Amino acid sequence: MLLVCNMSKFQCTMCSYSFIGEKLPLRCPYCAAKAAVTEVKDAQTLLDDSNHVEEDIRNIRLRREDI
Ligand SMILES: [Zn+2]
Repeated sequence: MLLVCNMSKFQCTMCSYSFIGEKLPLRCPYCAAKAAVTEVKDAQTLLDDSNHVEEDIRNIRLRREDI
């Protein structure tokens, strides 16, 4: 399956409607609020962030075992 790389996830700050698109739309496709849509982190970025958090927890545990 071929995935389109330049798709981003967007969310409306007015109605919390989230959707996938190529570029930031001027209006929310759900509630039509103007300039309310913002880009949100994609799933991979969120996964990367949570991996960093897990690493930090592991480091803290290791440090506790040292004591
Ligand atoms: Zn909206």
